[in-house]
Amino acid sequence: MFRLITLSPDALQLLNLSAEECLESREFLELVSGNTTFNGSQPLAHCYCGHQFGNFSGQLGDGRALSLGEIVNFSGERWELQLKGSGKTPFSRNSDGRAVLRSTIREYLCSEAMHYLGIPTTRAASIVTSSTRVVRDIKYDGHPIQEKATVLLRLAPTFLRFGSFEIFKDTDKTTGRAGPSPKNSELLKTLLNYTVKHHYPELIEKYADETDRYVAFYREVVERTARLVAQWQCVGFCHGVLNTDNMSILGLTIDFGPFGFMDAFNPSYICNGSDTGARYSYENQPSMCGWNTAKLAEALIPIVPLERLKSELDRFRSLFQEAHLQIMLGKLGMSYSTKLPTDKSLVADLLEIMDRTGADFTNTFRLLSRLKLFADETSSKKNEEELLKLILAQTASPEVLAKAYKPLMPENQILQMQMLSHQNPMMLMMMGKSAEEVEAQVAMLNRYKKALKKSPDEKRTTDEKFWRLWLHRYRERLHGRVVEDNSLRTEATEVDDSARPSSESSESKSPEPLDSKSDPMPSQDELNKQNSARSASMNRCNPKFILRNYIAQRAIELAEAGDYSEMKRVFELLKHPYDEQPDMDEFRYDQLPPEWSHDLFVS
Ligand code: AMP
Ligand code: MG
Ligand code: MG
Repeated sequence: MFRLITLSPDALQLLNLSAEECLESREFLELVSGNTTFNGSQPLAHCYCGHQFGNFSGQLGDGRALSLGEIVNFSGERWELQLKGSGKTPFSRNSDGRAVLRSTIREYLCSEAMHYLGIPTTRAASIVTSSTRVVRDIKYDGHPIQEKATVLLRLAPTFLRFGSFEIFKDTDKTTGRAGPSPKNSELLKTLLNYTVKHHYPELIEKYADETDRYVAFYREVVERTARLVAQWQCVGFCHGVLNTDNMSILGLTIDFGPFGFMDAFNPSYICNGSDTGARYSYENQPSMCGWNTAKLAEALIPIVPLERLKSELDRFRSLFQEAHLQIMLGKLGMSYSTKLPTDKSLVADLLEIMDRTGADFTNTFRLLSRLKLFADETSSKKNEEELLKLILAQTASPEVLAKAYKPLMPENQILQMQMLSHQNPMMLMMMGKSAEEVEAQVAMLNRYKKALKKSPDEKRTTDEKFWRLWLHRYRERLHGRVVEDNSLRTEATEVDDSARPSSESSESKSPEPLDSKSDPMPSQDELNKQNSARSASMNRCNPKFILRNYIAQRAIELAEAGDYSEMKRVFELLKHPYDEQPDMDEFRYDQLPPEWSHDLFVS
């Protein structure tokens, strides 16, 4: 017994299918549940390697995804159809190749939400659930938890990953010889040529020389990956498992597992309950993507000169920083082409204040579009005070913040590991822990304790002070005037130094006009025009709705009880993340996480 529980009409459109015809078609159901294949076709499982949490794991995938084939649609686009969770593949080893309802709903909702946010991603087209039960977890009382085996139809131009190229580092299957071999280099070249031909065809005309072409391919991957992670950072998205086997060769968000969208801004946010070393925390994502991109370069070394790969890889950091600043300025209604040197610190200080005050990432950026410019000081002040109140109402309480910083291990265990790392590092190694992991745990513990100590009163007064100063600076900047503020820098902060203005003077400069001709203040009519244009453009950059963990969780719990209405409503909501959607007001999808969800954790 199996049942089609939902469809994404826009994803199906990519295959020139309508949701209506799919709903009525027995053949479609048979296909997307993995019971039949396309006439005359042979499905395949994709064999790949990967670096998992920093170590090369050899061949590890794909034990539960099955490619049905590719469709070239009426627009000439190529789409690979893949079933996730349809059962054993040649690479399943001792696992069952199945997926469960909750993880499938999370991937379905999030991949489509990413698409509507405008972030490159694989797509999700349908979910089929069945009466087959699988066990993934055991209850505290020892009882196995039975879950519905569920199949997702997902789409991408290709599901090739960095790990697909790393497979040639592994044992040469024909000779049995480990590591690089002529046979493996030949296969690597075949895969590279295939990838370029089908997914980067423009490089063939542009580069006659093979090596130039491979370097250009790698350059594209570096650029797309840097841009992608900048987009993630700017929407508060944490992937959770940034292993090289989860890095798309097309720069798509791929393999949605224990991902999370942040609520209160916290750079050390970890969404994956198994990531005890904080390797894939929010703030580590850019460097981890850079590291992964280096691993891809290593995989290409047998056929591409190292120096040429290295000079492309070296651009990763600056490409990321540039993309990050560009998107952040857009979120503030400012343009990258007219940026000032001080704009970097305006952004960095905003994030610093959001961190210190526990500001909700999504709602804070959305609210900033309400800052309006006025010709007179009284109206300006009034607007600033109103906005301040709204922003403060979207900050988390010290108790909630402390929970967000809570370390992933019990305190006594962390302290014990800390002791071992000083006195007996061998013991620590035998426990499978690295010194970095211990350090990360200790840092989290300290943060947690510090947050716990903060009284609500103390938090409130410092919050107000920081925000008032920053809002004033922001407003002046929108008027075209620069106000320096070093109040955040009197204490040691964790903000990237490269994001600071180069000359730090201790006193505030008085506002000065940008143009030497010293423009007079525009009329209020002119300012009103600017205000509404800026607010509209900001609302196209700052989503009002994201897939918060509690929203996904509520949809999943109802679906597990057989009620798919909430999942479908959330899907509709996330189709228009930048719109106000007053018809959804009653569901309060923009509210901070409710009390019951504070301890939610996915792994
Ligand atoms: P992930 O951590 O989800 O990216 O998974 C890494 C690899 O583990 C996948 O590519 C699969 O090959 C394998 N895997 C995960 N779950 C299963 C399962 N239930 N059955 C078979 N293989 C699995
Ligand atoms: Mg994966
Ligand atoms: Mg997964």
